Amino acid sequence: MRVLVRPIAGYMQISRMSKEVLVEKISERTCVACRKKAARTELLRFVLQGDGESRQVAFDKSKRRPGRGVWTHSPAQNVDCFERALEEGFLARGLRAPRGVQSNEVVTNLRRSVALYLAQANK
Ligand SMILES: [Zn+2]
Repeated sequence: MRVLVRPIAGYMQISRMSKEVLVEKISERTCVACRKKAARTELLRFVLQGDGESRQVAFDKSKRRPGRGVWTHSPAQNVDCFERALEEGFLARGLRAPRGVQSNEVVTNLRRSVALYLAQANK
């Protein structure tokens, strides 16, 4: 939902237009590791990609890919939710898929993708 109002707590500023500010309500999602709610901007999103045997968990950098997604706190928030989700299979469980979609190889790729994403975001 986008509305044109003065800044209000809980809203994120989108752009400044004359004396008013375009804001978007911050939508919250639940972290699959700690089960706490947080703004989408503080979380990472993961989805299933592929079919059948090749189905696996993928990092959704855009946070907009279709289908069911699961969220974890970002390592940038100084919490270990992402690592816990990898180690304990929370991504597969949250996506209601067999543990195999989160194989060791997939976990390695997810760590690499997220590290790369965070390095680029901190530029
Ligand atoms: Zn968390």
